Amino acid sequence: MRKVLFFLLILAAFAAAALGAWAIRRTVQGSSTRDQRVISFIRNPSAHADWALDAGTQCPGASFRLPTRGFIGYVWNDSFRPGHHHTGLDIFGGTAPGETPVYAAASGYLTRLPEWRSSLIIRIPRDPLQPDRQIWTYYTHLADPQGTPLIDPAFPPGTQEVFVEAGTLLGYQGNFSGTPGTPVGVHLHFSIVRDDGTGRFLDEREIANTLDPSPYFGMNLNTETLQNGIPTCLPTDSDNVSP
Ligand SMILES: [Zn+2]
Repeated sequence: MRKVLFFLLILAAFAAAALGAWAIRRTVQGSSTRDQRVISFIRNPSAHADWALDAGTQCPGASFRLPTRGFIGYVWNDSFRPGHHHTGLDIFGGTAPGETPVYAAASGYLTRLPEWRSSLIIRIPRDPLQPDRQIWTYYTHLADPQGTPLIDPAFPPGTQEVFVEAGTLLGYQGNFSGTPGTPVGVHLHFSIVRDDGTGRFLDEREIANTLDPSPYFGMNLNTETLQNGIPTCLPTDSDNVSP
């Protein structure tokens, strides 16, 4: 009995240490600051209009343009619970579902699997930063709280490999969580997904299967480089030339 108790105590100590380490990492890397900002922004978007970026924003030298208007509230590698790593960007429009348009960040071939209510994926045959490989761009939360799609009717379920230019309207930001009736904040989740090497996309939910979006957008969009900052275009070399 004593041995069991001792073992349980050790286990509890390990769990507490892991939870503590997670909380410290969240503080250092800015995730907890972002929690507070996201809540403030959703409650009163007009009071924080300076945090938002326009749809189509293309930073100097960047290959992708911002797919929707809003505040980039969460970035790559944010952690919402121990062991979780956010695989993309969460862009909050500050509007009701179905109001803030979502456009293609880059040109490519659009697929929507027959069972996808709120998601679509666009294949980019040549990664602009590493042209010998193919990548995918994934867009989700494009549905209302009940899961009714807010995707443009041009892309019905079962759409396969339809070419879309950068800037094409794809649908509208929504708040479908995946479970009807339990909405999240209205936003677009956007991620860049690796190819498995045979022309198929890997599981987007694993961070190792995704790419840091920072160099594609010319912004600090991962927890290491952003820390407590608010995402915006990085200064270019020419900005630093003294007159
Ligand atoms: Zn997300």
